[in-house]
Amino acid sequence: MLAGLVALVRQGNEVTSDTLAHLGEVEDRLLHAELGYPSLHAYCVQALAMSEGAAGRRVAGARVCRRFPVVFGRVARGELHLSALCALARHLTAENAAELFDACAHKSRRQVDEWLAVRFPRADVKEQVRRLSIEPLSAGRFGVHFTADGELRDLIERARAIASHRLARRDLSALMRLVFAEFVAREEQRRFAVGSKRTVKLATSGVAAARVAAPPGGVRREYISASVRRAVYARDAGRCSFVARDGTRCECREFLELDHVRPWAWFGAASEENLRLRCRAHNQLHARRCFGRLRVTARVEGRAVSGLWRRGGARFRRTPGRQSGSAAERASAGPC
Ligand SMILES: [Zn+2]
Repeated sequence: MLAGLVALVRQGNEVTSDTLAHLGEVEDRLLHAELGYPSLHAYCVQALAMSEGAAGRRVAGARVCRRFPVVFGRVARGELHLSALCALARHLTAENAAELFDACAHKSRRQVDEWLAVRFPRADVKEQVRRLSIEPLSAGRFGVHFTADGELRDLIERARAIASHRLARRDLSALMRLVFAEFVAREEQRRFAVGSKRTVKLATSGVAAARVAAPPGGVRREYISASVRRAVYARDAGRCSFVARDGTRCECREFLELDHVRPWAWFGAASEENLRLRCRAHNQLHARRCFGRLRVTARVEGRAVSGLWRRGGARFRRTPGRQSGSAAERASAGPC
């Protein structure tokens, strides 16, 4: 029986390696986006019924394998498990990969963490401070847990003092509700003109926030009226509007961008009919369908490709400060 168990574990390692290869290919081809999911993690959880933790480990593992194909064999042979790949992912570079893979081979997650804590002591602490968890307690009740540093604690105390006349008690949850509600209202007005009385405002973010009529040498920008942004946001109910062939609608509300149905580079209008809300994955999918994979990948990575993103004979620069695709993908990996 024990020999059979060992054989099953070996088979499992090989299956895991094959699974990572498939997941990497799905993400590379944006197949999860075609099916209506904003990220590979969402596809794993919702379509493949993985737990959030299992999905996060496999997504992180698949990305490590795509960057360093030698890892496929190490996973198949049982030298590196998914938890080790998760822990290693943010530290790997082309220069240190071989060293890190050798050092962490056949180690438990705890041993890997201890080794990394010595090798990269500050990065691990930083990541833990940022982590936030929301735990269901009962119907309509949730526990929110996070680690605050001294600066955040001081901000909370200042907010509680300033809002004391609006709060019946020194109730932290009431304060958080007040703060978040005002933040959401302000950001909805800033980005999508919700509740705004202004009729014209500058769009400054996203692929769709294209640029026109720039001063000589300056960044070109497109004006999208506040009424159009407000109408598009209301019509799409503040979420990505992508619908897959089987009717699955993307549920993403994060990293939303105003996307042109007919691309702005092809003289698509900044009208309510030609604009829609799209998450980053589905914005990228549409761009890839319109412009081809090579050009979209080059633009996301900030590389120059001849003739890319031209309109009216002019060449346009990348939006300043916009997060790169790879960084956004890292953010969507989910928990490990
Ligand atoms: Zn989407």
